[in-house]
Amino acid sequence: MASSLPTQKRIALVAHDHKKPLLLAWAKRHLEQLRQHELYATGTTGSLLQQQLNLPITRLLSGPLGGDQQIGALIATEKLDLLVFFWDPLTSQPHDPDVKALLRLAVVWDIPMACSTATADFLFSSTLLGQDYPRHPSLP
Ligand code: PGA
Repeated sequence: MASSLPTQKRIALVAHDHKKPLLLAWAKRHLEQLRQHELYATGTTGSLLQQQLNLPITRLLSGPLGGDQQIGALIATEKLDLLVFFWDPLTSQPHDPDVKALLRLAVVWDIPMACSTATADFLFSSTLLGQDYPRHPSLP
């Protein structure tokens, strides 16, 4: 098992529909930092980030079609280091089991995860973003 999150991080960006404007606004404020890392996103979120901010991103499937599960698989295989996941607490989602599974895996594998603008700002203000950081997964 790899023992640390690398200096150049593999970052996934995901936002539910009502949260997409917030994520775009947040990403716009952190463009230069985001460009220093390797970016992944679910389908629609990724299209918006590519088109509006010209960010190079590996796009996965749309969340409801399996994109959240693809991100979960990247986390579980230690191919993802940080998750910015603006999920919508006020709207029910058809893929709610996938949303819950993704939140769970991020904690199991102890990757930094931000689910709101404030937390994402705090994460991106951390000096740890640009450093190696040891993993502390909750494994037996
Ligand atoms: P989307 O998926 O980026 O394809 O909209 C997000 C989600 O619902 O998890």
